[in-house]
Amino acid sequence: MTLARELLASAGTALDDLVLANHILFRERVLDGFGHVSVRHPRDPSRFVMSQSKAPATVTRDDLLVYDLEGEAIDAPGRKLYLERYIHSAVYRERTDVMAVVHSHSPAVIPFGITAMPLQAVCGVCGFLGVHVPVFEIRDAAGPATDLLIRSQALGLAMVRALGGAPVVLLRGHGSTAVGNSIAQAVYRAIYTEVNARLQADAMRLGAVNYLTAEEGAAASATNDGVISRIWNSWKAQALASA
Ligand code: MN
Repeated sequence: MTLARELLASAGTALDDLVLANHILFRERVLDGFGHVSVRHPRDPSRFVMSQSKAPATVTRDDLLVYDLEGEAIDAPGRKLYLERYIHSAVYRERTDVMAVVHSHSPAVIPFGITAMPLQAVCGVCGFLGVHVPVFEIRDAAGPATDLLIRSQALGLAMVRALGGAPVVLLRGHGSTAVGNSIAQAVYRAIYTEVNARLQADAMRLGAVNYLTAEEGAAASATNDGVISRIWNSWKAQALASA
């Protein structure tokens, strides 16, 4: 048995949840043909699991590969890898609290990465966003002529410096990265970051916005984390029913 096969065998139910997370994020219109979701290996924190390069809606157990924290796939000759796998490797290397990562190009967040208007929590279910979501400017790290993609571990680490201890970072002109202490929390955060961006933009068209305070955001976030399994089970059931 190869090392990669052993690692996949010992990852248990995390693999099923990871496949479902791909399908859920597609159904919720956070991922389309692009973007990816990963999970830190539950028994080996120096590794993570993610699909080979494939549209999330079509990912199955057979697509899952094991990666190290430099973004290299283990025992995966011939497999095509996501160009932006370094988003995941850099986060897992620097943020030991993170167990799952979602990178998406979901559209409603884009305006908040390309204007001076900060994304911030406008409702309780989005309280985790707090009063300011950081933005990563790739020009600061790699100059004015990139294709905006996180194509190296060095760029991944630059993105993580912008993320800091936050749950989400916006990537200017590109998308966002959400992290969590479980697949459910990372998926929840990715979905509700998009919801908040839509609601905040709607509210701004109507008038001055009454945002959550930092304290309200923290309190609401703690409450929501306590019941996250309810919505996760609902998303799972819908994804399984349509499979
Ligand atoms: Mn991307």
